Amino acid sequence: MSELQFFGHIIDNEEVESIDGKRFDVWNPWTREVWAQAAEASEKDAERAIESARRAFDEGPWPRMGRAERAKAIHRLADLMEERADDLARMDSTNMAKPFEQAKHDVARSVWNFRFFADHQRDAVGEVYPMDSGHHTYSEFGPAGVVAAISPWNFPLMMASWKIAPAIAWGNTCIIKPSEDTPASVTLLGRLAVEAGFPPGVLNVVNGFGAPAGATLTGDDRVDRVTFTGSSTTGRYVMASAATHLAPVSLELGGKGANIVFEDADIDNAIHWAVEAIFRNAGQICLAGSRLFVHSSLYESFMERFVTAAEALTIGDPFDPATTFSSLASKRHFDKVASYVESARELGGTIRTGGVAEDGTWVVRPTIIDGLALDAAPYCEEIFGPVCVVNSFDTEEEVVHLANDTRYGLNAMLFTENLSRAHRVASKLRAGTVWVNCFFIRDLRTPFGGVGDSGVGREGGNFSREFFTEPKAVVMQIDRG
Ligand code: NAD
Repeated sequence: MSELQFFGHIIDNEEVESIDGKRFDVWNPWTREVWAQAAEASEKDAERAIESARRAFDEGPWPRMGRAERAKAIHRLADLMEERADDLARMDSTNMAKPFEQAKHDVARSVWNFRFFADHQRDAVGEVYPMDSGHHTYSEFGPAGVVAAISPWNFPLMMASWKIAPAIAWGNTCIIKPSEDTPASVTLLGRLAVEAGFPPGVLNVVNGFGAPAGATLTGDDRVDRVTFTGSSTTGRYVMASAATHLAPVSLELGGKGANIVFEDADIDNAIHWAVEAIFRNAGQICLAGSRLFVHSSLYESFMERFVTAAEALTIGDPFDPATTFSSLASKRHFDKVASYVESARELGGTIRTGGVAEDGTWVVRPTIIDGLALDAAPYCEEIFGPVCVVNSFDTEEEVVHLANDTRYGLNAMLFTENLSRAHRVASKLRAGTVWVNCFFIRDLRTPFGGVGDSGVGREGGNFSREFFTEPKAVVMQIDRG
């Protein structure tokens, strides 16, 4: 076996081993081999990163820098990411079996996250409130302090950059803990920040597990903001931990997105997006359209075409250019998704296509199931894999009720050519984002987040500014009368 790559922590602009020298294995889920090792943080390593970020915030140049200069530094990082785009994408593809073309798309979006927030803070203006009393008040947005960011494995670089970019753009210093399943690309990002000339401590990377590494970050009172993307279960721990020192939290959690196809939909378009929404990234997308509702008048013909389109996906090595669908991101996750498919079968669901590959790989083929009861676990719970559960409906009222009948509320999609219906239904759906006749596209200025078990707070544009800054009102006497 060729020598394993190593991903250390990046603390104070140095790539270091853990204090106790501990490492963990990093897997390639397509080959089912260990391809790298990463430093495994103990509490002490996480504390070192907090000390570094604290020092950089309290004494370093970053929060005190002019906005344009900070924007320039972030654009320098974005330039380096573009130069190393293939390496970053290769790491995510190797680390979680994401088809390489999709990984390249994620890198481009990650670069955009940095460029967007760099410019957004550079160009932001406060507000002035003229007062009849002869005073006026203006608002300022100063950095909040040290940000602890914790990210998942499904979009390793993109999810991390979505948190790091607004945090550092607004003058905070940051510690990111990527998922233990996918430490590679975020560690390379940390190396690039050093190369871009970031002052020590502005961006620290801590590799390791939820506990102790993540939990140490969220529970430390030297941390001023906690931003987390991951499962709803972990989100509850993170919120409780941050509450011990009253740090505001932003939680982007799980989903069970409803995808509604009305009888007047453009069917080619609806099929295209139904496939993307549940089979892109092997369904490991919080925004997946995992509950599909199709109007009863076109149910059978739609299902026939949906099954054909799912079966047309090319399953294989993420680096083969023909591949559009690959294995799940880890053995643990494969076992979880496979058990949901098995339970759907036991509960009387009809597997229209798909199921576990049964060839020793960690592949669950694009799977479409119908006939499940509305309280069956595979229908209600987030599977986070390529498994779509389908139901028919007759009326608009009925489908709005079905779509909203979930603890989650991250996103929903609807397909119709009727404009009034599109507006009416969109406003009735309990979700943070509703896509009409499309999926996944977004403007980074808009609010992003979820309702209920899907999250707390919103990020994006000014919503990120609210979270990552301490807004201040300055009241000034203008006229002594
Ligand atoms: P997870 O909750 O298992 O882990 C997420 C991160 O939290 C990892 O880095 C993990 O090490 C860390 N962690 C675990 N326990 C912790 C603790 N006690 N304290 C602090 N950190 C801890 O989630 P996952 O399996 O990595 O990701 C999949 C989940 O993420 C799905 O539910 C998916 O819907 C969700 N997700 C949501 C969004 C969104 O924008 N809403 C985006 C992507 C993924």
